[in-house]
Order: sequence, then structure tokens, then C-alpha cells
Amino acid sequence: MSRELDELLENNRRWAEATRQREPGFFTRLAKQQSPRYMWIGCADSRVPANEITGLDPGEVFVHRNVANVVVHSDLNALSTIQFAVEHLKVEHIIVVGHYGCAGVRAALRGTRVGLADNWLRHVQDVRLRHRRRIDHLPPDEQENILCEMNVIEQVGNVALSTVMQDAWSRGQKVAVHGWVYGLVDGRLKDLDVSMDRSDAVVQVFSAAIKRYPRMSSTDTMF
Ligand SMILES: [Zn+2]
Repeated sequence: MSRELDELLENNRRWAEATRQREPGFFTRLAKQQSPRYMWIGCADSRVPANEITGLDPGEVFVHRNVANVVVHSDLNALSTIQFAVEHLKVEHIIVVGHYGCAGVRAALRGTRVGLADNWLRHVQDVRLRHRRRIDHLPPDEQENILCEMNVIEQVGNVALSTVMQDAWSRGQKVAVHGWVYGLVDGRLKDLDVSMDRSDAVVQVFSAAIKRYPRMSSTDTMF
């Protein structure tokens, strides 16, 4: 049998023991119930682990990750996870977190074929097409960074417009949706200032966030 995973199991034994010594009762408390205040919707990229970069312990953040942190209106996996977080765990903040240097966003921008994921990344290409006049005139590196940010803003809108959030807000539940982007090169999170905490704020907050990205002048129009 391969021993390649022995190091991971040994790391786990050490971590569990150190945690038990630092905080007796930690695991028995968590085993009974989780009550995270935060939900994280992020990219599956191995360099963007939710707990580590926010300094949160197990039990403190409920996580959903996929390629390029996309929330699609018909994705039952994402929607079920959001529903569980909002209705059962009563999280107070849902944070959509993109990251600069995202291979999924880059493939969507350049039209690179990567396989089955092309169909998933079509959603990111849709974001680019919708906002092409705010993206296409920029230098290539900047296009990628701006598309990473705009993709987060779009996904924040998608979460906010889901039946789960609309129902929660109509019940008067206190829960907000936010958008951040993470820098692989400096380890810093940036708030994209697109936080929404009630139904009637969604369109205004979304529009204000998008308008921060200057449009190409109409005389330069490519389409
Ligand atoms: Zn990514």
C-alpha cells in the first residue's frame, strides 16, 4: 500500500493533540453542534483556504467552493448549501470571495479550452460579455483582475436574488451578503464594497459597484 499519505495522517495526529491540549473540550463541543456566523463562497483553488486566511477555527465558517466561485441560479448544490447556512445555521454574513490570478477566470477571459469546465466557465464569460465595455479596453493583466472583481460582484447579486435570500430578508432575518477578492501575491483580502442586507438595496448596491469601473468612451466603442 502506498505510504504517500502517511505525512498527512501524522500531521493530523499532531494537530488534534495540540488542539486538545490548547483547548480541552474543543472537539466534544464542536461534535455536538456547529454555529458559524459566516458562510464563505470561494474558488476551489488550493491557495485560497477560507479558515487559514481569515484566522478562523473549525466551526467558525461554513464553506462552499467551486471553480471560479460561481453561484448559478439553477445550481442545487450551491443553493442547498446557502439555504442550510441561512435557515438552519443562521449565519449572519455570506461572503463571496474571488481571487486574482484565478485560472478559471483567465480561461474564461481568453477563451482557452480546458475541458468539461468550459461549460461551467461560460457563466464567467457571460459576466465578461455583459461588461465588455468596462473590460475590453484595458491592458490584458488588468482585464483579468477586473474580471475577477466583476465576477465576484455578479455572484453577490446572484446570491442576493436567490429565493433563499429573498425569503430570509422578507422574514426580517439579519443576514448580509458581501464580496471580497484575495491577492495570491500578498495574502490580503480586499472588500469590493458590494454588501447587501435587504431586498430593496440589491439593485442600487449592485449598480453602484459596477459603475466604479469606467466604461470605454462611446467614441471608442468596439461593438
Ligand atoms: Zn480560482
